[in-house]
Order: sequence, then C-alpha cells, then structure tokens
Amino acid sequence: MQIDISQYRFSELVDVPSFTRMLESFFLATGIPNGVVDVDGELLSMSAGLNACTQFHRVQPEAAERCRQSNLTIMHDLRAGCVAGGLCRNGLMDYATPVVIEGRQLATLFLGQVLHTPPDMAFFRQQAAELGWDESAYLASIAAIPVVDKERLQKLMAVMVEMAHMLATSGLARLRQNVLEHKLGEQSERRIQLEDILESSPVAIGWSDGGARIEYVNQQFTRLFGYTLADLPDLKAWYRQAYPDERYRETVVQPWVQALALARQTGVQPPELETDIICKNGDVRRIVVRPAWVARRQLVSFTDITERWQSEQRERAHDAMLEMVARGAALGNILNGIVQQIETEDTTARCSVLLLSEDGKHLLTGAAPSLPAFYNEAIHGIEIGVGVGSCGTAAYLGQRVIVEDIHLHDYWKPYLSLAQQAGLRACWSEPILSSRGVVLGTFAIYHAEPKAPQLQDLERIAFASNLAAIAIENRRTQEELERRAYLDYLTGLANRRYFFEQAEKELDRVRRYGGVLSVLMLDIDRFKLVNDTYGHKVGDLVLQKLAEVCLASLRDIDIIGRIGGEEFAILLPQTASEQALQAAERLRVAIAGAEIPQQSGLPLHFTASFGATVLVDKDASMDILLSQADQALYQAKAQGRNRVCLYRAQ
Ligand code: GH3
Ligand code: MG
Ligand code: MG
Repeated sequence: MQIDISQYRFSELVDVPSFTRMLESFFLATGIPNGVVDVDGELLSMSAGLNACTQFHRVQPEAAERCRQSNLTIMHDLRAGCVAGGLCRNGLMDYATPVVIEGRQLATLFLGQVLHTPPDMAFFRQQAAELGWDESAYLASIAAIPVVDKERLQKLMAVMVEMAHMLATSGLARLRQNVLEHKLGEQSERRIQLEDILESSPVAIGWSDGGARIEYVNQQFTRLFGYTLADLPDLKAWYRQAYPDERYRETVVQPWVQALALARQTGVQPPELETDIICKNGDVRRIVVRPAWVARRQLVSFTDITERWQSEQRERAHDAMLEMVARGAALGNILNGIVQQIETEDTTARCSVLLLSEDGKHLLTGAAPSLPAFYNEAIHGIEIGVGVGSCGTAAYLGQRVIVEDIHLHDYWKPYLSLAQQAGLRACWSEPILSSRGVVLGTFAIYHAEPKAPQLQDLERIAFASNLAAIAIENRRTQEELERRAYLDYLTGLANRRYFFEQAEKELDRVRRYGGVLSVLMLDIDRFKLVNDTYGHKVGDLVLQKLAEVCLASLRDIDIIGRIGGEEFAILLPQTASEQALQAAERLRVAIAGAEIPQQSGLPLHFTASFGATVLVDKDASMDILLSQADQALYQAKAQGRNRVCLYRAQ
C-alpha cells in the first residue's frame, strides 16, 4: 500500500501531547529546554518551564527579531546539511536537527538554549540594560541555562532525534496500517456489495482468472445451467459440458475463444456468441454469451433467449410450413420440415410423424428423417391398438402417451428389441388431431436415454402435432382446390378448361409426330324433359350416370370432358373415323342401356346423340374440331336423336 509521506505532517504521525511529555521529562533530566517545529515553522511542542528565551528574548520585539534571524540562519543551515546550531544573536547556543523520515524532513528538533561554557555575565548585563529588562531577573534566567559541553549535547541531541524519528516512523507505520485496513474494509465491503448484486442478478454471470480457472459463477448461473462452481474446475471442463459436440467445439467455440484472446490483445470489444448450451440435466438453452475483460479477469454474462428464440423459430417454421402448403409442396416435405424444427429445438431428440391410413387402422410413415430406415420400415403399416408402442396406443386412444423408459413399459414389450436396435429409450407420442378432433396420425419424440418430459417438451410436442394437423388437413383441402381447378364437381370428369388443355396437348403431339385422332361430342336427348318430369336432382343423377358409363366404356387414354350443361366432348387419340364411329356407337348403346333406379315405378332410361369428326387438316384447332363434331351432332339430333353422325367436309 503506497502512502506518500509528503501528504503527512509531523503532528499527524506523532501523538503530540505524549511527545510533549517526553520532551518535558528530557528537560527535567537534563535541564536543556527543547522543542519541535514543523516544516511550516509552527511550534508543535516545547518543554515547559520558564527560561531566558520565553521570559525575555521572545517577548521583546528587538530580541524576538534576533531570535527569528537566528532561527532563519539555523533553518538555512539545516536545509544544507544535518545538525545545525550555534550562538544565537541573543548570546545563547541553539541547536537544531531535522527529523527526516523516508528522505523528507517532517520537523525540526531544537535544543536550547544551552551554553557550552559558563555565561559571560557582563554581556548579558549589558543586554538587559540595552533592552530594558530587569537585570537581576534576566541574569538569574541566564544563570539557569545549563552548561553542557558540545560533545555531550550532540549525544543528547542524537537521542532526541532518534526518539522523534522512531515515533514518527511508527506513527507512519500505524497510519499505513490504518489506511490498509481501511482500504481492505472498503474493498471487502465493495466485494460484498458486488457479490450481493451478482447473486441477485437475473443474468447468469461467471468469471475466470483470465487463464483457465473459473473463479466464480453466480446463483442465476447455477439456476439456469445446473452447474455449480465445483462442476467447473476450469474452462475446458465448462466447454466440454456446455458444448458436448466435439465438432462444434472445434469449429465454433475454439475460433470464438481465439477471437476473444485477440480482442484482448488489440483492445477491441470481445465478440458475443449466440449458441446452444447443454445444461447439467441435458436441457438445451439458447444463450447469448457476452464476454468482457475486467482487469486481468474475464467476466462473462449469459443471457437466456431460449423462449424468444424458440418462438421466433417456431413462427418461422409455422410460416415456412404455410408457405409450403400454399406452394403445394408434398406433405412429406412439410412434415420433414416440422420434424427438423423440433429436432433443432431439442438437439437430443429424434422425431417421427406417422399418418393414420384411410381405413383408420394402420400407421404409415409420414416423416422420420432421423430414425433408422429399418425402424421406419418395421413400423410402417403397423396396426394401432393399446400396447402397440407409444404411437399405436396414442393413435388408438386419441390421447398423449408418455413412455419414459421403453425398457420398462408394457406398451413396448413387443417392440423392445427393435427399439434397442434403433437406440431408442424414451418415446412420447401425441395424437395429431384434425380441427374436428379426428385422429390423423401421431407426432413422436424419441430420446436415446430414459427421459420424462418437462413442461417445455410437452409444449413442443403439442406445437408440432398442431402444425402437422394443419399440414395434413390443408393438404387434403388443397387436393380439393386441385380438383376444383381441373375437374367437374358433379361428374368428376375433366372440366371444360382442363379438357381443352389436355386435348390441345394431344393435338400438338399429333402435329409433331404424326398420327390420327378423332373427336366426339354428345348431348343428352330431351334432357329438359327429364328435369321437368323428375326434378333437377334426378337430372344430376343422369349426368353422373352418363359420366360413369363413359369412363367404363372408353379407354384410359381417351380424354373426356363436360364442356357444357349436358354436353360432353371426347378426344380419342390414335383413332381414325371408322374406329371413332364404332366407339361412339358402343357408347351410345351403353348409355341407352343405363338406368336410374326410381323409388316408385320403373327405372329411368335416357339416350344421347353423337357427332364425330376426325382430324384431317393438321393445322385444325380444337375449336374447329369441336365445331365440326357439333355440326355432326346437330345432324344426329335432326335425324331423330339417339344416333351417331360423322362430320363430312362439304
Ligand atoms: P335436345 O335433345 O334437343 O338436346 O333437348 P334438350 O332438352 O336436352 O335440350 P336443351 O339444350 O334445351 O336442354 C338442356 C337442359 O339441360 C336445360 C338445362 O336445364 C339442363 N341442364 C343443364 N345443366 C344441367 C345440370 O347440371 N343439371 C341438370 N339437372 N340439368 C341441367
Ligand atoms: Mg344441349
Ligand atoms: Mg340435350
């Protein structure tokens, strides 16, 4: 502890009243008056007793001036050397010695007045006369001045100086001790305050000694990560536990640690690190690590952003999933995306989505990218029921099934060796429910170790199964959109637009590669009458029946479309006029033979008229072909209906 001696006065180092008593004792023992003057010339202490100086010299202006002058001379000599002294201008011997501590003069010790030889009374008598003193009194005071030979005086002087020096030095030491104690007190107070603050801090904080040793972690640190200071003897141990993935340590943590060291050398702000930290209980927290150098210590704060980060991630996953649905991505891809999201949130988890089959009895693999293929294959098609693992049971009951340890649970008895082979030890399964509460499948989270779900795990699995439900349900509704966009809602045949689209493609192919094709058009005979007689609903049944008959009697490659209310067009690829007429005739007969059962009475029969045309001019458009077929159809109607006519160019 460095205390600058120049800050202190003699009176602060030495207990002046005690020192004065000591000087008095000295005076009583030796008869030599004495005193101490500090560096500013202030008289600090003086032995008591009356003497020539106090009674006469200092109280008379002229004599006092001589005293002052003598003192100045002595001071001057003192500054130049050590012991100074000599005959004062009032005729007495004065001695002065500096009290020097650590190279700095703190005070001056005076001894005097003394005489080395018996006084010259004639001189003093004259002085008394000059300055107007009472001669006998003055001479008596002079006679009382001790006569000490020079050598003895110097020895006495040395004793006094030694004492003053000793006292001042011990005073200084005591002072230093005080300051030290004070500072220590202050420091420990500061330390207590700092630790109090750190202990109640909502932010996890720790520091290392600037090397490898971790010196402190606060309560919040232990609360957040589970590790105590005892768990973390050094930074290496911390890195190993917080980042168990060796590759991550090598590729992310080590470069960051190096950047920290560099930042310290160059005096720039040390870089933050946003990272996953593995807690003592295996949980993963998303943390922003903020290092700082405080003197030689490395102080690090850990801000837990897990909740915020997860909700952002989830929002992103949610948005990405909806976007995938909107883009018409395959359901498998969407479900994979959800699985990956959950596996990112909990890096120790492996997930699967199983879909309930159409018959509602089996589970089919929806997405399980992290589970081994042999496992997925074994599970694919499994029949649901109580005791069929976690998922089979969850799908069957429509309830969440938590199996903390597969080895110990009855549900897993039939699949134990399969699970062991796949390295699965815990399986929590959540049914995926539609908006109407119907089971669509299951979302499962697996772990390699026995594990009970925490609140956040349950939240996570519920989030995932909800997302999967949206994906599965929306996928189906889209399928509907697709149907609406291309197919006729009543008959399931291609609608007008889709028929033209497909027909144009076929036409294009013939134009490019050659070949033939024919087009048929058919129209239900007297359909208005059907509606009027049996009602519109029965009319619809007729339309549906006609579509059914068409699909049954035509080939797979033929393109059938409902292009108007009760008008249908058919494109027959690779079909010349003769076969086209045969196909139309076959269809006409089939239609005429179809019947719509009636609740009362005979079943309803209906017929259709056909117009046919064949592609001759390769540049002819679909519109032209249809108009040709329409013309032939018109002829068929005109000729009595329920017949086929072929278009012939004029
Ligand atoms: P024609 O033999 O000359 O073709 O006689 P038609 O009665 O079939 O002639 P028209 O074209 O005048 O009548 C077509 C009828 O088809 C009129 C319309 O009410 C009916 N229709 C059109 N679309 C539908 C439908 O989707 N459902 C039902 N039930 N009827 C429809
Ligand atoms: Mg019509
Ligand atoms: Mg008609």
